[in-house]
Amino acid sequence: MKIGIDLGGTTISIGLVNDRYEIIEKAEGLTCCEEGPEAVIVRMGKMVRELLQKAGNPPISYIGLGCPGVLDREMGTVIYSNNIKWQQVPVCQKLREQLQVPVYVENDANCAAMGEYLAGAGRGSRQMIMVTFGTGIGGGIIFDGKLYLGRHGNSNIIGHIQIEKGGRECTCKRKGCWECYASTRALLLSAKQAGVFAGVDDGEINGHLFFEALKEKKEAALCVFEEYTDYVAEGIADLINIFDPERIVIGGGVSAQGELLLAPVREKVKQKIYFKEMETADIVCSVLANDAAVIGAANLLSQ
Ligand SMILES: [Zn+2]
Repeated sequence: MKIGIDLGGTTISIGLVNDRYEIIEKAEGLTCCEEGPEAVIVRMGKMVRELLQKAGNPPISYIGLGCPGVLDREMGTVIYSNNIKWQQVPVCQKLREQLQVPVYVENDANCAAMGEYLAGAGRGSRQMIMVTFGTGIGGGIIFDGKLYLGRHGNSNIIGHIQIEKGGRECTCKRKGCWECYASTRALLLSAKQAGVFAGVDDGEINGHLFFEALKEKKEAALCVFEEYTDYVAEGIADLINIFDPERIVIGGGVSAQGELLLAPVREKVKQKIYFKEMETADIVCSVLANDAAVIGAANLLSQ
């Protein structure tokens, strides 16, 4: 048995995972990153101890930690993470000192991809790319059954493919990145500009409201969605052209929409890829939701 941890800017999720990739016990708590890394790491350690106790203290072989940001995997250090405001934190060593088991760290989006690949929508494929639509667009690439990491482990920055040169300003300082048009945040921004949320306070705008308007076939929502699925398909077609994967797994809140999102995206991707005669990659929605990163983190050494 292993422990998987998904450390996010808001929430810490922990799971005890068995050899069949099932979470048999889980716990969740707030990250409270304003308290600083030391406090967060002590809290994570405490959560793990409590979880193990609840499960009758089974022996575990290691802890896998999914974490956003730039990492040094060999040293087990978070070099820099904007989401949790960490810089040069030797998180693996510190957790190991508390819990006396080996600890490994991997990018959280890569962990989610690994989880879906092993136990979710990616099962049975050998080449899979997970694309997670949220505030930005995250990704994870599975190549021949393993995470493709690149030289520094930064191969998954797929949200910053440039779609519109000189387009919307991105958080990465470039303009026109894919996530400026196809993230959930971008969808809501476009919908707001098109008047879909007329009369709704800014604080109450969310994806659920948008998809309600879409299901009611409101003209503005239909137009925004048409353009949104175009942008989603542009980026996915690029990924297919470069990697020729067997499967694309869509994650994030929008994946709950299932066929409503998938049907137009599949159709558009088919028209945009280079080899139109070729059988296109399956485009499916994630099935594990927030459990994906926990299961993937717990199986970092299984690949
Ligand atoms: Zn960017």
